Amino acid sequence: MSKSYDAIIIGAGVIGACTAFEMAKKGMKTLSIDKLPEAGYGSTSGSCAIIRTYYSAYETCALAYEGWHYWKDWEGYIGRGVADNLIQYHDTGCLVIKTPHNKDLSVVCDTMDQIGCPWENIPTDQIPDRLPNADTRAYDPAKRPDDDGFGEPTGNAVNGAVFFPNGGYVSDPKLSAQNAQQAAMAAGAEFRFNTEVTEIKQENGKVVGVTLSDGSRINAPVVVNVAGPHSFVINEMAGVTDGMNINTRALRHEVAHVPAPKGMDFERDGFIYSDSDIHTYARPETGNHILIGSEDPACDPQDWVENPDVFDANLSEQSKIMTMRLAQRFTGLGIPEQAKGVVALYDVSDDWMPIYDKSDLDGFYMAVGTSGNQFKNAPVAGKIMAELVQKCQAGHDHDVNPVQFHLDYINADISLGAFSRKREINQNSSFSVIG
Ligand SMILES: Cc1cc2nc3c(=O)[nH]c(=O)nc-3n(C[C@H](O)[C@H](O)[C@H](O)COP(=O)(O)OP(=O)(O)OC[C@H]3O[C@@H](n4cnc5c(N)ncnc54)[C@H](O)[C@@H]3O)c2cc1C
Repeated sequence: MSKSYDAIIIGAGVIGACTAFEMAKKGMKTLSIDKLPEAGYGSTSGSCAIIRTYYSAYETCALAYEGWHYWKDWEGYIGRGVADNLIQYHDTGCLVIKTPHNKDLSVVCDTMDQIGCPWENIPTDQIPDRLPNADTRAYDPAKRPDDDGFGEPTGNAVNGAVFFPNGGYVSDPKLSAQNAQQAAMAAGAEFRFNTEVTEIKQENGKVVGVTLSDGSRINAPVVVNVAGPHSFVINEMAGVTDGMNINTRALRHEVAHVPAPKGMDFERDGFIYSDSDIHTYARPETGNHILIGSEDPACDPQDWVENPDVFDANLSEQSKIMTMRLAQRFTGLGIPEQAKGVVALYDVSDDWMPIYDKSDLDGFYMAVGTSGNQFKNAPVAGKIMAELVQKCQAGHDHDVNPVQFHLDYINADISLGAFSRKREINQNSSFSVIG
């Protein structure tokens, strides 16, 4: 006889594991299923795990600032003594360059004031106090090495910067999913690895469980899709994409790891760095390295992946280009012959904001479209999903009357309608990893 659960969660990445934890805490009997061997083995393991609070919409900023509090007290969140080996959160702060792309951060700083998140204005001539020997000239628009003027300044100076003291990074993103898994198990959740879901079973317009690749079946009235870059595969399996205005796709991305410039101890003194003038972001990495990601300038080709199980996991010229762009600002940054870094997939929504929602299929929910920017929100996303499932299963019509969600730390309410699959595309989005 097949076993029954209150809910099946597909995916045990950082968001899937936090969702299991939060649902188990509400008393639901959950089973998390992942086709990989351990929690966090999927796109979570490739994450830069940057925790920052600036986004383009009020709701995403509020979520991120709420999320920061969980990383600050991670052990308090997962429970004292629950995990064998805890992640380390480095609260370094974030330096963000003002550019026309982010409207000189004016809207962001207004939003920070609304949510009570501190920030500090940094005039251009003080940027080198934070970033020694910084070249503060402007380089926008981004170019490819073959374009005329690549690496040449286009203006005398950027417009200054803002320092957000509340932000940082997690040293080991995979471990964070494993910590959350242990917390979930301590709350009663079950996990099954090396197990693939191949079908969402439905009867009379309702979810009744899933079928696994070995043909066996597991029953549950609720299934939550937290499948990361496979989210669209699972949504297609469930037949729910016609009822969605916002869809998701897998996008291949590279992250470069390079040594810090000579004389700079970026591991000790560094911070999160985001710069839409040179279209890169960076953070410290162990061994006095710098981890470099792209802020998706229009000139770079986008590598959409049809089958998330098959993509080129080798670094390409792109990681070198990102390093060259950062070297425009970080004077003395070397361009290594031998590329090092990570290749992984984002699960990108049409407006680069997440979908935390129900679906048109009764009992089928999704935490998807995390667009390379939702690691930081995993604990809050878990809470959102648990509340959404509980309310909708009790008969609440979230599509008509969106659930209002209270953010405990920052004492604010947000409408979860902002994360609806049926929303209009948010035109204020950066349409990049910044969200
Ligand atoms: C390169 C990169 C850099 C990033 N940097 C940041 C950052 O700095 N800050 C930030 O906030 N966010 C960042 N992100 C985004 C963040 O890491 C993700 O949003 C988050 O890790 C997603 O977690 P998840 O649990 O939803 O998905 P995943 O970790 O992708 O987990 C999904 C799981 O579902 C499983 N699965 C899929 N299909 C099936 C199936 N049919 N049956 C069973 N299991 C299945 C997979 O095996 C996988 O383990 C980054 C992402 C990437 C790729």
